Amino acid sequence: MCAEMSKAVKKYFAPGRVNLIGEHIDYNGGLVLPAALNIGISATYIPQSDNKIVLRSATHSLVKEINLSDTFSFNPQNDWTNYPIGIIEHLKRENHYIPSCEVIFESNLPEGSGLSSSAAIEVLTAFMLLSQTESNINRTWLAEFCQQVENEFIDVKCGIMDQYAVANGKKDNALLLDCAYLKHDFVPIELGDCRLLLMNTNKPRSLIRSRYNERKAECEEALRIIRNVKPQLKNLCEAEMHWIETITDEVIRKRARHVISENIRVKESVKVLRHNDLHTFGRLLNASHQSLKEDYEVSGTELDILVETAQEIKGCLGARMTGAGFGGCAIALVHHSVIEKLKNNVSETYFNSTGITCSFHTVEIGDGVRLLSE
Ligand code: ADP
Ligand code: MG
Repeated sequence: MCAEMSKAVKKYFAPGRVNLIGEHIDYNGGLVLPAALNIGISATYIPQSDNKIVLRSATHSLVKEINLSDTFSFNPQNDWTNYPIGIIEHLKRENHYIPSCEVIFESNLPEGSGLSSSAAIEVLTAFMLLSQTESNINRTWLAEFCQQVENEFIDVKCGIMDQYAVANGKKDNALLLDCAYLKHDFVPIELGDCRLLLMNTNKPRSLIRSRYNERKAECEEALRIIRNVKPQLKNLCEAEMHWIETITDEVIRKRARHVISENIRVKESVKVLRHNDLHTFGRLLNASHQSLKEDYEVSGTELDILVETAQEIKGCLGARMTGAGFGGCAIALVHHSVIEKLKNNVSETYFNSTGITCSFHTVEIGDGVRLLSE
């Protein structure tokens, strides 16, 4: 159905997301438990009529004007604008109408920190442009479309989790997302006297794209080997743990062990969260971190210091890295009475061993992408 084109300036918002548990298993057909945040990126949409789009961001100096008749491919010189340009190019390929406009992005979401600012800007751009002519945008389609842009245009072989959480988030709920069947259940997050604390390493990530793609290839190799004995196996997350004994390469075997064990931890987490058993959930967070550090090898000195220092503090129920890893953020589940103590201890230990100042943010769970005001 076509909504009438309006000439009014509008404002849209897409949240970042935090993944509570279920790391690096979305691209292995697993279950994941992300939540949309109350921080994110907003876009002011100013209609124009010159067959052009002007892209501006308050957090980047590059301003880009593109002609909608042109064809686009990834270009490093286009820096951050590759994300919205990728969305525009792929929308054009699918014959969607793209309105002329000027867009100004503003953000209170750290970039490159594992909170999915890339998914936020993708989903925001697609939702905003399509909203000018379409009502009732299908949010599962929107997530898949934006994932495809990140996979093909940006060349990061991420799974569906980030875009799905940004598109479908719901205040005070996590999403139990089944990545094999693309369906979700909401899991209410009631923390009582506890808080979820984000701990940002403030370490610029490097090599993220190549490492991500490397892990994905390793998982594909693990699946290929297990399928030699279990040809019906749909994805790595459905494998039974003892099947990995057929994998002779130790590295590939460790990758598979993380994937299978993490999927089990997500199921247990949902069970205990539904019974408000935060202590067991905390222990599952700790186990997830250990697995990401030892078996999947995507943590790193900085994340380990944050997580392991937090875990030692009485009143911290659990902590783990979140997001792709190699820097970025960790989360801790903390009794509110020890938050200040935890912040002081962790930041001092972290600064003394890395020379970097970390930062903290108490997580609040918000809604998915939306129109803010007209
Ligand atoms: P993450 O998704 O974990 O934040 P990525 O490296 O995948 O990290 O994506 C970060 C990139 O997304 C930034 O380097 C920038 O190019 C783009 N980006 C994110 N937020 C904004 C913003 N507000 N304005 C412009 N570009 C942004
Ligand atoms: Mg990203």
